[in-house]
Amino acid sequence: MRYEMLTAIVGTNWGDEGKGRMVDLLSADYDIVCRYQGGNNAGHTVVNDRGKFILNLLPSGILRETTVNVMGPGMVVDIRHLCGEIGRLREAGIEITPAHLKISDRAVICLPYHVLLDGLEEDRLGDAKFGSTRRGIAPVYADKYMKKALRMGELLDPEELEKRLPGIVEWKNLTVEKGYGAEPVDPAALLAWLHEYGDPLKPYICDVTSFLSEAVKAGKNVMFEAQLGSLRDIDYGIYPYTSSSTTLAAYAPIGAGLPGARLDRVVGIMKAYSSCVGEGPFTCELFGADGDMLREAGGEYGAATGRPRRVGGFDVPASRFGVRVQGADCLALTKLDVLSVYEQIPVCVQYDIDGELTDRFPSGTRLTKAKPVYTYLPGWHCDISGCRSFDALPKEAQDYILMIQKAVNCKIRYVSVGAERDQYFEMA
Ligand code: GDP
Ligand code: MG
Repeated sequence: MRYEMLTAIVGTNWGDEGKGRMVDLLSADYDIVCRYQGGNNAGHTVVNDRGKFILNLLPSGILRETTVNVMGPGMVVDIRHLCGEIGRLREAGIEITPAHLKISDRAVICLPYHVLLDGLEEDRLGDAKFGSTRRGIAPVYADKYMKKALRMGELLDPEELEKRLPGIVEWKNLTVEKGYGAEPVDPAALLAWLHEYGDPLKPYICDVTSFLSEAVKAGKNVMFEAQLGSLRDIDYGIYPYTSSSTTLAAYAPIGAGLPGARLDRVVGIMKAYSSCVGEGPFTCELFGADGDMLREAGGEYGAATGRPRRVGGFDVPASRFGVRVQGADCLALTKLDVLSVYEQIPVCVQYDIDGELTDRFPSGTRLTKAKPVYTYLPGWHCDISGCRSFDALPKEAQDYILMIQKAVNCKIRYVSVGAERDQYFEMA
């Protein structure tokens, strides 16, 4: 089947909705998969016939031999991490060559001092911390907008890079040394680091915009893979507990390297319940034994960090907002099988804000004040991971899907009932 040419796969919640799993599945119909924002704070888990893989920086299409993968200008790339990730995949037998991995010369390099500053600031904040993954993402995006960042293309011109470095390091040491009182950054050590991890990547660095434009002209299908979800978007998410980039579909062509393109299709990936890593308002959160049961059933531990994820029932106000800001044309509902543990399934249908009931997702202090209004839907309480059609599901599971579809006002096209590639079905 030929799908719409330019498709974005995006998260409608707080991240970890199963985007990697759905990209792995749907990329069969695409020639190119692009990551368009974020860095190695992502953790996309893919389980297929070749094994189980956790991808942080590489697009999830890397596991298909014929797919070309693009890391776009909107990304921030920790080159040491990328070398390690490529090495681990190679050890597992995945071939990675410049023919099927292309890294934008405009993508920004995440340096050791960004990682250092991320940790120093979280430690300084103490109890008021953001719950950062401490991978340097906020500091490196801040430098990008300060126009003090290094870009991947600079690795291709070592002489110019060497000339530029002292000035940038001098500026950065105003913060590292004079601000936080940490050991100053040594330009020579930084240059050595850039060579050690940058040199092996040189063959992959190119102008991805030319590549993508030609590919689109030639009729190739392109998929854009988001990291995180709507509610972590820097502008529309639960600021300041967001990521530092734009996770929304509208940014996908820009961040991937095809700035003039229009998307043909946006597939929102939506989990059948809620999870959230790190700090910030998470209205539907379940605590104690209720939370533990769902966390264990869903295996909700961070793919990038191993941290236990906060969990809750499906959150109607948050998910409907998440679907809307993505402009999703259709949805994939994931991890429905996890809800098999319940006799009665908790669903957060509204928020109570100072006694006012609302189904609109608020921002700012209204969000922090919101309390969940839960209702309970009948469970099916049996294993559905073998179901391959809507009709094969128990009536309660069918009703659950239809209830969610109506509540978020968007067509559910795919339903995932397990982590493996074939554990899903399409809705009529
Ligand atoms: P991403 O960040 O959106 O790519 O999602 P993660 O990979 O961080 O988290 C999703 C987790 O759920 C992964 O461990 C997947 O293997 C797993 N998963 C995805 N879809 C399903 C599903 O339908 N059922 C179950 N049980 N697990 C799933
Ligand atoms: Mg994840």
